[in-house]
Amino acid sequence: MSFDQLQAELDQRERDALYRRRRVLDSAQGPEVQVDGKRYLAFCSNDYLGLANHPEVVRALQQGADRYGVGGGASHLVNGHGRAHHALEEALAEFTGRERVLLFSTGYMANLGAINGLLGKADAIFQDRLNHASLLDAGLLSGARFQRYLHNDVASLEQRLAKTTGRRKLVVTDGVFSMDGDLAPLPALASAARAENGWLMVDDAHGFGCIGRGGRGIADHFDLGQDEVPVLVGTLGKAFGTSGAFVAGSSALIETLIQFARTYIYTTSMPPAVACASLASLRLLEAEDWRREHLNALIARFRTGCEQLGLNLMASPTPIQPILIGEADAAMAISAGLEARGIFVGAIRPPTVPVGSARLRVTLSASHTEAQVDELLEALGQVIGAQVIGAQVTST
Ligand code: PMP
Repeated sequence: MSFDQLQAELDQRERDALYRRRRVLDSAQGPEVQVDGKRYLAFCSNDYLGLANHPEVVRALQQGADRYGVGGGASHLVNGHGRAHHALEEALAEFTGRERVLLFSTGYMANLGAINGLLGKADAIFQDRLNHASLLDAGLLSGARFQRYLHNDVASLEQRLAKTTGRRKLVVTDGVFSMDGDLAPLPALASAARAENGWLMVDDAHGFGCIGRGGRGIADHFDLGQDEVPVLVGTLGKAFGTSGAFVAGSSALIETLIQFARTYIYTTSMPPAVACASLASLRLLEAEDWRREHLNALIARFRTGCEQLGLNLMASPTPIQPILIGEADAAMAISAGLEARGIFVGAIRPPTVPVGSARLRVTLSASHTEAQVDELLEALGQVIGAQVIGAQVTST
């Protein structure tokens, strides 16, 4: 069979401005990065607290490697579950205020494992239509009856909950939506789930570290405990600055996942040194409120600046600050214009976001300075003013 057909499809994708390209980073994460040999001011990392290259986190990784070596060696249930993993699970349980925590190697795997460990064909799952791809994939894979409700629309969820039967009902939402930056209305979602005897699962990949007391995430922000949010997912590759993920909840939930979550059972544990680094990062994240305070000041500064420029922001109080552009080619042109000025901001296009809502996904970090945010604003003013004002930029 020839690959010509594949190449033709790739060519079409390129013409539609939907082609995805990788960039090669030569430096550590930080406000300034080196990409393909050139230095850029970067506003596209999820390293929200600036911990990915923090000396204490790096040292913890080095010490962990000295002590435990590099590879996890085996899955957790064989002989890959080490003291470092165990200590991190216990610290995360205390941090989240949950009975227990289970580590996974990535957030994608945590979501796949949690949903498939809990649900099968006899069950029903209800997901916000803007949930992360890993949640949507997990729901499809589970074979459960699958319903998507309108974004953050509790009435739309309630309608679907009322008319769908299932042995178990699981309502699933991002805590902070990864491409919009807005928060899920958790108290109302929790009540809706409980009214139908269902469970609420929250993927707080982008909330942990950034919101809630001491960075304890969206459940803490809304003061919801284990009863209201029985399945809580966090990732370590974003504000924690390391890699991996966890599910937090009751002992029965965690034991169930140990028995049935295939992405937990059939994969090598994360390198123990990464667990050591994550523990160091957890301590910094809890202790250093100034990181969140500085980040919030940058968010306010950026939003005010964008409003003055007349840019189309979304209702986001978080470090994810997308600028809605509309068409994919316009978003790509603006991203390229910024790049020419030494600023790195990714354009997000369909199918990651709905057609007609391509955007620049600006992410801010506690490692940015006010001057760097001002530099971004100035470049945005120049590039958007020069290239697309009135033409392709949506104004609604
Ligand atoms: N959930 C959400 C909401 C995410 O944004 C992401 C990553 N972009 C993930 C899960 C996956 O996490 P990981 O990168 O650790 O696989």
